[in-house]
Amino acid sequence: MTEHGTAAEPAATAEEGEAGAMSTEIFSERLLGLLDDILAGDAPNAGRFCGYCYHPLAATRQICTYCGRPVAGRPVVSAVPRTLIEMHRRRRNREGLVVRTVAWGGLSIGVIVALLPLALWDVAWWSVIAFFGLLALFYLLSANLANSLGDSLGYAWGQSLVRREWAQLVKQRDSGA
Ligand SMILES: [Zn+2]
Repeated sequence: MTEHGTAAEPAATAEEGEAGAMSTEIFSERLLGLLDDILAGDAPNAGRFCGYCYHPLAATRQICTYCGRPVAGRPVVSAVPRTLIEMHRRRRNREGLVVRTVAWGGLSIGVIVALLPLALWDVAWWSVIAFFGLLALFYLLSANLANSLGDSLGYAWGQSLVRREWAQLVKQRDSGA
């Protein structure tokens, strides 16, 4: 669950070279933020980006501050590839789907549990209070669960998509297609 949070990665993946970066987040925080903005229509897809990892680079920057590749070896690009933006959209969809599923699943169970006192016993002041109390409790529980468990699961599921599609993108890009 905390796999992506551990800093102590074995150096064994170093021999894979470019694939070594896949042990953690492939894209920089700044690029992820920009991709979110592009998807929301809040930012244009234009600028100066690393030719390998698409990290946004300042005009004078000659070495990517995220992946460390020199601009000389891999020319900068002025826009993020469309396929990358679409990949990011699918990733965010996955993450959101898991979080919403956990939240609504928890809430649905809560409704059922909250209805039990009303179903099993006569409607009385205490069973009505129990209904609303249980509902409120499960609302808080499922919101918490969505933010913790749902977030982790969604992140992992999104990462599996990104890793697979990024590998494809790199392969196609570097084969000159
Ligand atoms: Zn880079």
